[in-house]
Amino acid sequence: MTITRLPVGPIALRAKPSVGGEPDTQRGRSPSMPVHGPLIDSFGRVHTDMRLSVTDRCNFRCVYCMPDEGMTFLPRAEILSFEEIARVARVARGLGVTSVRLTGGEPLVRRGIVELVRRVAAMGFDDVSLTTNGTGLARLAEPLAQAGLQRVNISCDSLQPDRFAQIRRRGELSMVLKAMDAAEAAGLAPLKVNVVVMAGVNDDEVLDFCAFAREHDRVVRFIEYMPLDANGLWDRSQVVAGSDLLAQIGERWPLVACDPQGTDSAPAERYRFADGVGEIGVVASVTRPFCGTCDRLRVTADGAVRNCLFSDDELSLRSVMRSGGTDDEMAMTLRTAIWGKLPGHGINDPGFLRPHRSMSMIGG
Ligand code: SAM
Ligand code: SF4
Repeated sequence: MTITRLPVGPIALRAKPSVGGEPDTQRGRSPSMPVHGPLIDSFGRVHTDMRLSVTDRCNFRCVYCMPDEGMTFLPRAEILSFEEIARVARVARGLGVTSVRLTGGEPLVRRGIVELVRRVAAMGFDDVSLTTNGTGLARLAEPLAQAGLQRVNISCDSLQPDRFAQIRRRGELSMVLKAMDAAEAAGLAPLKVNVVVMAGVNDDEVLDFCAFAREHDRVVRFIEYMPLDANGLWDRSQVVAGSDLLAQIGERWPLVACDPQGTDSAPAERYRFADGVGEIGVVASVTRPFCGTCDRLRVTADGAVRNCLFSDDELSLRSVMRSGGTDDEMAMTLRTAIWGKLPGHGINDPGFLRPHRSMSMIGG
């Protein structure tokens, strides 16, 4: 096990699982796929956390995600019905998935989302959450909580109204801040705030966001900009490394790693402020991949299982369902998709190719 050293003083360091954040391939791959037990890949990673996209549509056009105009959406007939989404969730639950996050596109623009949450929440997952741009949450927070939603992540990349408008291109900062209040009032806590940090765009707001996290007791998660924008404009020079963010923050407010051993499978490296006031997270998918402990699978709005954000290998649960397939066949499709997972996403390999689908089409 390698300990990754950060160039900062007051931070307890998080251990990474192996060089490059990939599983210990020296142990070798298991020879054959089990047909019982949990969802496991050939490197022994057990998958318990599912991102379930309910739509690829969105009312925002964030610069790092979609073009301003001309985004092509899936034909409605190709999107899974609620019946089909609920079936996917039920089969996944039967395979040991314990945590489900509804996402998109913007999940709250899908009509009937409260009803879908109610159905999924009744299936016995430990954790049912949702990622949203905040639209409509002021109205929906209470019904969603009543339906069994436990937590929300709200995306907000600037605390300056003008800049917010430039980055997200639709909506208003004030609306998103009200959505945060509404979520907390409805008991959807702890509230996490997702901030995609882009060099020269909003990286000067990192300390402001930390002050915001401390003041409101909200967990701000700084996310590295990933090569998943629909325009294909991503460039490494726009990525602000998580270690640089931590160094900057640590100088102002010393930090303590919540999980110094790196055993937590969550992508965010979590840090408490050493004075006990508040918490932040860093999702360093580009510069410090966490593939070695990845326990995540994704199902797109059109029912494709993906074992990694960055892999184009997909198997269609929709085809299985719409051709009269059984739950066992769906389970086998899920198992096969996970079994084929590569040790790492390879963003930093010279031959890396961007996936064909962008973030909103996959489900972030
Ligand atoms: N529409 C919802 C929202 O914005 O929260 C949910 C879907 S969105 C695709 C999920 C998360 O992915 C958001 O926090 C968003 O900021 C993040 N995201 C989108 N494109 C990204 C990119 N290229 N790199 C890093 N994060 C990205
Ligand atoms: Fe829509 Fe979310 Fe993508 Fe922004 S990040 S365009 S809100 S799906």
